[in-house]
Amino acid sequence: MNGTTRTVKVGNVLIGGGHPTIVQSMWKEAIGQIDTALTARVDALGRLGCGILRFAVPDMDAAERLGELAAVSSLPLVADIHFDWKIALRCLDFPIAKIRINPGNIGARWKVAELAGKASDKGVAIRIGVNGGSMPKDLEDRADRPAALVEAAEREVAAFDELGFTALIVSMKASDVDETIRANRLFASRHDIPLHLGVTEAGPAIPGIVRSTAALYTLLKEGIGDTIRVSLSDSEENETIAGSEIVALADGGRKNPSIISCPKCGRAGFDTHAFLSRWQGRIYALGKPVTIAVMGCVVNGPGEARHADLGIAGGGGKAIIFRKGAIPRTVPLEDADSEFGEELSRL
Ligand code: SF4
Repeated sequence: MNGTTRTVKVGNVLIGGGHPTIVQSMWKEAIGQIDTALTARVDALGRLGCGILRFAVPDMDAAERLGELAAVSSLPLVADIHFDWKIALRCLDFPIAKIRINPGNIGARWKVAELAGKASDKGVAIRIGVNGGSMPKDLEDRADRPAALVEAAEREVAAFDELGFTALIVSMKASDVDETIRANRLFASRHDIPLHLGVTEAGPAIPGIVRSTAALYTLLKEGIGDTIRVSLSDSEENETIAGSEIVALADGGRKNPSIISCPKCGRAGFDTHAFLSRWQGRIYALGKPVTIAVMGCVVNGPGEARHADLGIAGGGGKAIIFRKGAIPRTVPLEDADSEFGEELSRL
């Protein structure tokens, strides 16, 4: 969260101006049929901590489907558009919360003016997204990559400034952590426009989360950044959980569950890995700041997790379930899931 940026409204969410940092994700597939399965998954992403959800809109059919979804979505939706301003104009006929588009991709100034005018009338924000992999030709070979990213963003911003359009959010993403940090620092030192942070093409889950955390945590701790996306070659759910963890670490004030779990060793009387693969999603879906401990054995289990709101540990061929302030209960291993589930539903 950054108290020095202007506030921009994205649907019912406020970005910048010291408002809480918002976690975003992006839908991985083409928008399909708008049915209850799709809306239920959007709702579930919201419970995991996703505050804004973006969709690629490559053609008019996709714009129509996104419009249909926006009318029933529990989350503010963003239309991600490249080149064709007519698609952006069509999206603005629907309750879309934000458009991601770069004026430099649209072409003629009158087209940019038409888009900015309609977005302004509808109260829709626009994100300018500059990406290290698709820089303007004259900036491609500049040695100072962060400065080049900032200049590319500033050119796009200037096109909207001329038109008096201020509901802007900017992102400058590189796949290099250091470039991402330096570009965002430089931009933040010059502008009050809210920043959407992210490391682009960050990779599969493990390296992607490591790289994103290094960049985003660093910037958020400096008070730079108003909304984040952890881009992973992985699910929207895992992007959201990773983003929520980074925000909880950097900003404090955790809003999502915290899972404490042991790495497991030869003393384990309980398969913590298998248990977590069954329960992680449901734990995060609680959507509140509880601490859950999953420990392999009683040697360190209950002791290490004594502050947990709910914990489970293996021992003597049984599972021990402990709740903060209550006497631990021992249950047969085969009943561990059902007993744990019952306790979880009481939290
Ligand atoms: S809690 Fe027990 S099983 Fe887990 S790592 Fe520690 S000693 Fe090993």
